[in-house]
Amino acid sequence: MKTERQISSGGVIFRRNPPSTPPLEKGGEGGIEVALIAVKDSTVWCLPKGLVEKGENIARTAHREVKEETGLDGKIIKLIDNIHYFYSHKEPGETKRFFKIVYFFIMEYTHGDVKDHDSEVDDCQWFEIDEALKKVEYEDEKEILKKARDMIKAM
Ligand code: ATP
Repeated sequence: MKTERQISSGGVIFRRNPPSTPPLEKGGEGGIEVALIAVKDSTVWCLPKGLVEKGENIARTAHREVKEETGLDGKIIKLIDNIHYFYSHKEPGETKRFFKIVYFFIMEYTHGDVKDHDSEVDDCQWFEIDEALKKVEYEDEKEILKKARDMIKAM
């Protein structure tokens, strides 16, 4: 069976001192929240991402896909890392096999509302970053989130 190669790009979009926690000057911990999307009938929480289009660089794809899927806009800060996995897709008469590489960028939230998430995703919510780590389905995305947490804390 032939394996088709795909490249996607996505983001960890974050905000500091979210409205749900007291601000630093009022004794809050200055928490970090990140946005996750829910797919597969809301059974799987994951990072927003999508296929790189022809002529598009991976940072631009990440920005476009995060905006489309989550309803949130932000500034690309830097590349976190990439992950890769195989998956199969059954179609009438044939099963296709894919090898996918996904790049993830840190993005600092500027504006937008999770209520405006893409209708193709089941849900989008902000989670405190340690909660997001528990929620995320895939081990490799957990590693991306851990790296993002360290990078954001060092910023
Ligand atoms: P894209 O968001 O890049 O357009 P998609 O939504 O079409 O892609 P994927 O999210 O790559 O497709 O999902 C295709 C298959 O791969 C699904 O069965 C999914 O469960 C699996 N999958 C998705 N992410 C991962 C991952 N990080 N590790 C392992 N398997 C994954």
